[in-house]
Amino acid sequence: MDKETRQNQVPLSSQSQLHHKLISKVWKLNLPPKLKIFWWKILHNGLPVADNLRKRGINIYSYCQACGEEIETVQHMLMHYRVAKEIWSLLLEELPEFPQSNIAIFQFFQYLMDRSTAQLQKNLPFFIGWRIWKMRNKNLGLTQSYVAAGHPRWLDQFYTSDRSASSD
Ligand SMILES: [Zn+2]
Repeated sequence: MDKETRQNQVPLSSQSQLHHKLISKVWKLNLPPKLKIFWWKILHNGLPVADNLRKRGINIYSYCQACGEEIETVQHMLMHYRVAKEIWSLLLEELPEFPQSNIAIFQFFQYLMDRSTAQLQKNLPFFIGWRIWKMRNKNLGLTQSYVAAGHPRWLDQFYTSDRSASSD
């Protein structure tokens, strides 16, 4: 997404306010802790997808290994990758306004929050996102410990402060 597209959507200051608000909402979702952590990492762009690993200086192939069509970012893995898109469109079939591909990941999260309250199976979208990630790891033959090893240290600090801020 280029700068112009991003700025045409919502002013940056309110974007970051929304982002912050969503982060605190993650902890209030009725989800197992591992799923809360997963979505929390997504909002901090802390999942070890190829693009993030590369940015941290790890020399790996940065395109999506499933389709090879784009750099593997969190957005690609969760929203743009063909199979993920199909899964969402099956799940959200009756809900017409699937987000445009150029939205930020936290806007996609907001979209899922809205769907969750409208849907019979509350929180299902959050489980689906998690399954997409698990499917990706399984297809790549990655073990749990391998994926955890890609967890950036800098996130731990945020994790501790976010959790204590939202527990009151
Ligand atoms: Zn792909």
